[in-house]
Amino acid sequence: MKWQTALVQFDPAPGDPHAPSVTPIYQTATFRLPSATEAGGYDYSRSGNPTRDVLEAQLAHLESGQRGFAFASGMAAIDAAISLIPAGGTVIAGDDLYGGTFRYLDRLAPARGQRSRFVDTTDPEALESAMSTLDGPCLVLIETPSNPRMTISDLERCAAIVHRYEGLLAVDNSLMSPYLQRPLELGADVVIHSATKFLSGHGHTTAGAVVTRDEDLGARIAWHQNATGSALGPFDCWLLISGLKTLAVRLERQQSTAVRLARSLAAHPAVDAVCYPTLDGHPGAGLHRSQATGGGAVVTVRLDNPNLGRQLVESTRYFQVAVSFGSVGSSIELPATMSHAPLASKPGAAPFDNAWVRLSVGLEDPEDLESDLLAVLAVGSLDRRRRPAEAGRRSQIEANKSSTGSL
Ligand SMILES: *Cc1c(COP(=O)(O)O)cnc(C)c1O
Repeated sequence: MKWQTALVQFDPAPGDPHAPSVTPIYQTATFRLPSATEAGGYDYSRSGNPTRDVLEAQLAHLESGQRGFAFASGMAAIDAAISLIPAGGTVIAGDDLYGGTFRYLDRLAPARGQRSRFVDTTDPEALESAMSTLDGPCLVLIETPSNPRMTISDLERCAAIVHRYEGLLAVDNSLMSPYLQRPLELGADVVIHSATKFLSGHGHTTAGAVVTRDEDLGARIAWHQNATGSALGPFDCWLLISGLKTLAVRLERQQSTAVRLARSLAAHPAVDAVCYPTLDGHPGAGLHRSQATGGGAVVTVRLDNPNLGRQLVESTRYFQVAVSFGSVGSSIELPATMSHAPLASKPGAAPFDNAWVRLSVGLEDPEDLESDLLAVLAVGSLDRRRRPAEAGRRSQIEANKSSTGSL
């Protein structure tokens, strides 16, 4: 069975006597046991649930792994992966990564006695020299393409280096999805997803996934999932099972529009740089093409003028101002104040200013999206097109967010 067939052809309800054609939502906390001393197939949904089992088997299969796990969010999935190393161990992460992952490694991991370091993993020698100075267990966590700069790390080379030092390689594959890139096939030990993004595809649930290369790592993730109670609930599992079926068609179409937008933005005088993994001139394009089958549907741009980023974000007609990406509806955001706000606490200069804008390209008509962006970018049109009422409401939301430290 080919990969795309497997997206829709799987046993939706193993063992269910009614043979439903779509997976039922087993919305129950407990399962009746045959007696006080005998175990049934399931006993308690934190430990196992039939809806979740269908999703987890599907995740494992699609990522070419042995075991799959569904978590309440991408961060819960990252937490589970990082639990694979004990206190005293080290997490080495790429130096361009999701803001929430940075926050975890900067504050939570050290509080649990795990060290964290940030290394430019696009440079295998930098990774090698970081690993050669370590003692104790190590997990290397890579995003390729990275979020939001789209830098590319060589997965096969990284895996070889990490394994030479007996470490584990975990890859956050949220930006690609297994439709475009399967890190376990390239030597990674663990794949992580924010399933909130392309796997769900509809922006209707927060969820995470971990897939392991082997049974032993799988058993350790299963233990953590049960011990911490971080598994995804049955209804959200059902949403994800449903969303996954259209992964290939969604991404194919969203990606082709993203390529079109990346090209026309790259040719625009108001745009200083476009970060998109397969765009001509991207320094990692050749490498990316060798390990993934496409560039995905997220495009990051750096505008010529940092004062225009916020106006662009707040002036388009079809791109919702929203964090996250991967949904069927297009969205737009400022990494500096939104998805990557936690990086503001990183030592040294803030990594992003408001010249950086990240777009997630959805299923709208490509021409609508292109003309929307180009109209906003047309010289002198930004102020005119701004929607004052919404902009005011958003400033309030931003103010609330920064005071509560969410995101
Ligand atoms: C969104 C995201 C996460 C966090 O996932 P949540 O589902 O929001 O918890 C982790 N990694 C990457 C690359 C992300 O984009």
